[in-house]
Amino acid sequence: MAFNPLNWILGFFSLDIGIDLGTANTLVFVRGKGIVINEPSWVAVEKKSLIPIMVGDKAAVGQVAKEMSGRAPKNVMVVRPLRDGVISEFEITEAMLAHFIGKAHEQSIVPLPRPRVVVGVPTGVTEVEKRAVNDAALLAGAREVYLIEEPTASALAVGLPINQVGGSVVLDIGGGTSEVTVFSLGSVVANRSLRVAGDELDQAIVQYIRNKYNILIGERAAEQVKIKVGSAFPLKEEKTTTVRGRNLVSGLPETLEISSIEIREALSGPVDQIIQAVKEALDDVPAEMVGDVMDNGVCMCGGGALLQGLAERLSDELRLRCWVADDPLTCVARGAGLVLDDLEGYRHFLIQMD
Ligand code: ADP
Ligand code: MG
Repeated sequence: MAFNPLNWILGFFSLDIGIDLGTANTLVFVRGKGIVINEPSWVAVEKKSLIPIMVGDKAAVGQVAKEMSGRAPKNVMVVRPLRDGVISEFEITEAMLAHFIGKAHEQSIVPLPRPRVVVGVPTGVTEVEKRAVNDAALLAGAREVYLIEEPTASALAVGLPINQVGGSVVLDIGGGTSEVTVFSLGSVVANRSLRVAGDELDQAIVQYIRNKYNILIGERAAEQVKIKVGSAFPLKEEKTTTVRGRNLVSGLPETLEISSIEIREALSGPVDQIIQAVKEALDDVPAEMVGDVMDNGVCMCGGGALLQGLAERLSDELRLRCWVADDPLTCVARGAGLVLDDLEGYRHFLIQMD
């Protein structure tokens, strides 16, 4: 974002923040500063009280908690409170938000009033789910809360012409959900959401290695394999990586070498499901708009968009230009941040609960 001295000065006097409360990562954008927090949406809580535990003088929220997963003591539960795209653990989500909002607040030089907050929500969430996000943000210390649909925030961050006649398409592949949204004249004309995204790809790798090699690997190890050698289209140079797990027959630890060809096979089921959802959303596009969609193509964001060869594979299957947004993991946060500059001007995109 270009440096704007006015925003920079405003940043000193009020703390307006944009939040991407994702199933995998939470990002906090502070007006005038940019993204100040980018951490996994993980919390380690004490089992009985559900209160985040302390590690030294820090609450176990974010990266610290993610690293504890699978290694925590018996009385500690490591939780992803948003796992399926909506708030499944309300109190823990609130504690996580309060922690991140508090951290963003701490970084200001002068004491500031409570912040105004814009939070992204997936398209098509229910009123109850919107209320949960709204209330969690209020309880976490927000003064006013505005919700924005995540694909809208992403489209604004990317600068897609969503207010114009004609179709712009956003495909967001996160941790828990993938969402395809077609816009025209600032409104959503077609949308598909499915609970198949990054987590499902990790699970597919766990299953594949278990079935083929009788080796059980952890979810985080599977994610690393996906990021290193996962793909959706043949690579120019196929790769290999190693992964450690437990041999289910001998019970002993084992190191396995695995190739990108095998991992592509492992990922093919969920990848096909995502492609199918995009096809279905495009099928809903009114005939008059098909040409516009062909001109504009599909903008991919969310961390899952970084899967190697996915843009090529989609372009091939849809016969449309599909491309990955710059910095796809931060689109929603940057879009929410952009809206803070002109809450009045963007009001038609915002949802305010009473
Ligand atoms: P959410 O909005 O649900 O929090 P994100 O947009 O932050 O999700 O994306 C997180 C997902 O992106 C995770 O499943 C992660 O494994 C995946 N991811 C991140 N980087 C890559 C990469 N280079 N290749 C494939 N997947 C990736
Ligand atoms: Mg997201």
